[in-house]
Amino acid sequence: MALKDPQEALTVALCMGCGGEIYEGDEVRRIREDGALVHNNGVCDVEFAFDSVYDAEGFATVGGYIE
Ligand SMILES: [Zn+2]
Repeated sequence: MALKDPQEALTVALCMGCGGEIYEGDEVRRIREDGALVHNNGVCDVEFAFDSVYDAEGFATVGGYIE
């Protein structure tokens, strides 16, 4: 959440999660690989992490597969 009115706050980066502007003072998380930022809001950061780490979700089957 921005500390200042977004119209007055300085845009410092674009979020790798939502693509929106990150303002000075926003809570963020930094991505290890490239140092890019995402909003630390439980949406942008979580979705980016899930997209980066996992490629499927479902139920485990015999042999370690997923369905
Ligand atoms: Zn975002």
